[in-house]
Amino acid sequence: MTRQRKKVRIPEKGIPSKELLQNLSDFRDEDVNWKSGKAFGYVYHATDEIKELIRDSYDMFSSTNALNPMAFPSLKQFEAEIASMTADMLGGDTNAVGNVTSCGTESVILAVKTYWDWAHNKKGIKNPEMIVPESIHPSFNKGAHYFNVKTITIPLDDNFKLNVSDVENAINKNTMLIVGSACDYPRGMVDPIEKLAALAKDHKIGFHTDSCLGGFMLPWLKKLGYDIPEFDLSVDGVTSISADSHKYGYGAKGTSVLLFKDKSFQKHQYFCHLPWPGGVYAHPTMTGTRPGGVIAATWAAMRHIGEDGYLSLAKKAMETTQRLKDGINAIPEMHVLGKPDMTVFSFGSDTLNPYIIADAMQKRGWVLDRLQYPACLHVIVNPFHETVVDEFLTTLKEAVEE
Ligand SMILES: *Cc1c(COP(=O)(O)O)cnc(C)c1O
Repeated sequence: MTRQRKKVRIPEKGIPSKELLQNLSDFRDEDVNWKSGKAFGYVYHATDEIKELIRDSYDMFSSTNALNPMAFPSLKQFEAEIASMTADMLGGDTNAVGNVTSCGTESVILAVKTYWDWAHNKKGIKNPEMIVPESIHPSFNKGAHYFNVKTITIPLDDNFKLNVSDVENAINKNTMLIVGSACDYPRGMVDPIEKLAALAKDHKIGFHTDSCLGGFMLPWLKKLGYDIPEFDLSVDGVTSISADSHKYGYGAKGTSVLLFKDKSFQKHQYFCHLPWPGGVYAHPTMTGTRPGGVIAATWAAMRHIGEDGYLSLAKKAMETTQRLKDGINAIPEMHVLGKPDMTVFSFGSDTLNPYIIADAMQKRGWVLDRLQYPACLHVIVNPFHETVVDEFLTTLKEAVEE
């Protein structure tokens, strides 16, 4: 297919749907074929049945807008129930409150904004600061940049662990927030949340757990008996948490959940502009128009999968992860980095350049993300990778030999 790269105009005469759907399908053929299991990120897929449920529920609500909950009480209820189900999964009590946002990044930026408002209005802090581990997701840096929050980044030790006393030493009168990950994106490790949150509580500041990646995985692994460090709203001192329903929640792309332990922080989340001729403008989240389709579809996916579904999907993904890690560690030149707590890890080599190995894998149709400090490759395991473990390991050995 020849792709048009020159300036494109709205067609003078509309194109029939059938032709366009064919166009779309041709474009799609050029994208990574994630269904083959040869990509390890970006796509979170449970089963075809869930994918179809998401499509059909999206379709039913595709024109709706959660901007005005009075016009669409259905969406208001879906959002409240997604937040409530997620809070229940993540150790929240009846005081926990939350919203559905458009992605993990929005949840994180909105959390930074909320603590910023809290710091200004409640604590009288003029130049707020936050303390983050170097493995924290860059959405925090993005939020800090937007809201002019000074970010103090704490380096990790040689085992990719955070030293709690380094965090303690970085606290000062301007600190509004400490952040930890469960798990972090690069190495799939859970930070020492209990100790960090206790520090935050001692200093009467906020603590946010970034569980965008692990929020819909760690609770189920814990129930399955895996050794998972404490990380959620049940931990004393944790004041908020983010969890991406569009990652291991297997909901519709374009949804994440931001939860606060109670209203005392969350009330600083709202934006309100009263003197507008268009009416009172008051919103809990950052976007204006909010697509109702993804909210309805995520609600449907969570209710369809259920605890039994999440447990069996988590088990499958974790067992697949173990087989992949064992296979990689069995290759003399390669090793898994750190001690991953869940279904995300990176692997590298002391003798070979991982990026060249990634190139060799790519020639064979496998797409692996390249990470740095140190150079390594990244794997986010989905249950459907179960069937490609042996093929992956055989190809990796070939690539290493090459
Ligand atoms: C994915 C991710 C985010 C951001 O989520 P998006 O949905 O990509 O915006 C934040 N933190 C962690 C740990 C993540 O893995």
